[in-house]
Amino acid sequence: MRVLLTGAAGFLGSHLAERLLSEGHEVIGVDNLSTGQRRNLEPLFRHPGFFFLEADVSRPLAVEGPLDWVLHFASPASPPRYLRLPIETLLVNAEGTRYLLDLALAKGAQFFLASTSEVYGDPLVHPQPETYWGNVNPIGPRSIYDEGKRYAEALTLAYHRTQGVPVRIARIFNCYGPRMDPKDGRVVSNFVVQALKGEALTVYGDGSQTRSFCYVDDLVEGIRRLMEVDYPYPVNLGNPEEYTVLALAQLVKELTGSSSEIVFQPLPEDDPKKRRPDISLAQRLIGWKPLVPVREGLERTIAHFREVVR
Ligand code: NAD
Ligand code: UDP
Repeated sequence: MRVLLTGAAGFLGSHLAERLLSEGHEVIGVDNLSTGQRRNLEPLFRHPGFFFLEADVSRPLAVEGPLDWVLHFASPASPPRYLRLPIETLLVNAEGTRYLLDLALAKGAQFFLASTSEVYGDPLVHPQPETYWGNVNPIGPRSIYDEGKRYAEALTLAYHRTQGVPVRIARIFNCYGPRMDPKDGRVVSNFVVQALKGEALTVYGDGSQTRSFCYVDDLVEGIRRLMEVDYPYPVNLGNPEEYTVLALAQLVKELTGSSSEIVFQPLPEDDPKKRRPDISLAQRLIGWKPLVPVREGLERTIAHFREVVR
């Protein structure tokens, strides 16, 4: 197959590109390097089937030749990064999604949207099934991301319903692993880097808020399976193993053997209090559930960060 993948220099995009290349597909990776890392592209360039296009996908993209799949992963994803790039985040999820759906339509390709558990906002239903409509502050600081993704989902289904574009939508819950940007401010990379450098681990609020953490290999497998079934509606992909942020900080300290202290800092506005995916739909539809326990995934992630953090 010939696949166009946006966000290829990012954390998830680079892992997915590698998986598709290893299966023998041709991958055209597109990225503007706004939050991605050039070093994530290095392993991809080792494959003869990889091509890189440095471009902003919030503008129309000219691509020659046929395409079988258009996979849209480009978007700032860590809260500090999207809060710094509010307009860009809205545009890549609105205009970017529109141009890529147009491209999929023109090429007769299947379209994939990397959506997010953030469409549930600060959820009042726990765990969150796909049927839950969410509790999003539409004008709060996080709205640029949450509403951007909600609009992207609506647009994707509108193209499916009115233009017949085959679409897949994954609602991805907090994912972690090697190639996360050590500086992009997400909780796993922050804690691991802080622990390895002997700096204090920064817990926001009292650390009682929860997240559920999925190792990247499990997520890539879920995405890969979702592309193969005929189901256009959103599907949760995540690991239901739920931790309080404070418990995660303690676990990272234990696994790194770090003597760093834990300090408490102010909780960001509208920070969701709890989050855990109900993955029964994914289990039924694609026979998928995560296989890597958080402890093991963190050990692999720590081993990676030992190499990149000096
Ligand atoms: P990331 O920041 O590592 O990767 C995003 C990539 O998109 C970066 O390489 C960035 O340079 C690129 N990009 C951003 N705007 C662009 C634009 N206008 N044009 C071209 N490229 C652009 O983030 P990630 O964790 O790999 O997330 C990838 C996707 O998955 C995002 O859409 C994100 O919303 C979604 N997602 C991720 C998670 C997670 O836990 N990692 C959870 C839910 C959803
Ligand atoms: N968090 C924290 N310390 C950090 C970074 C994040 O306590 O150094 C908290 C954050 O407030 C949130 C959770 O960890 O409650 C997950 O944050 P992240 O930015 O990774 O993802 P989110 O799920 O909020 O998009």
